[in-house]
Amino acid sequence: MRSRLDPMGARISTRPPSVITDVNRAIRDPMYQTKEWSQLRSKIMSRSSKTCLICGVNRVTHVDHLLGHNDAIAAEAAFCLGVSAAPTWQGRFYEGPFLTLCGPCHSSKTVLEQNGRLLEWMQAHWCKLLFEI
Ligand SMILES: [Zn+2]
Repeated sequence: MRSRLDPMGARISTRPPSVITDVNRAIRDPMYQTKEWSQLRSKIMSRSSKTCLICGVNRVTHVDHLLGHNDAIAAEAAFCLGVSAAPTWQGRFYEGPFLTLCGPCHSSKTVLEQNGRLLEWMQAHWCKLLFEI
């Protein structure tokens, strides 16, 4: 983790505030293990064309939460896209909006999201997102 020292010599993080913390992971990771998520994920996968929205490969493996895990960024992203979304991760978890992505595309989105750059990713794929959601 990148860090620097504050004027008192204490080490402080230089990560953007949107970085997913371990606390958030402790809340969200068990949600992926529930029967409700398993059923919803299967339903979304069966409705999808099995094609990755981003690269078009016919090997979708992820049901992605488009607006991500950070509530503040999700609110901004929903506003930019003109969609309504639950204000909390727990609400968005079951309500979406969702995307179906291949592994590499999901990984590249996740990396940007974890670095507070979800809106950049969305801008890069704006046209595809507008047709999907
Ligand atoms: Zn892909």
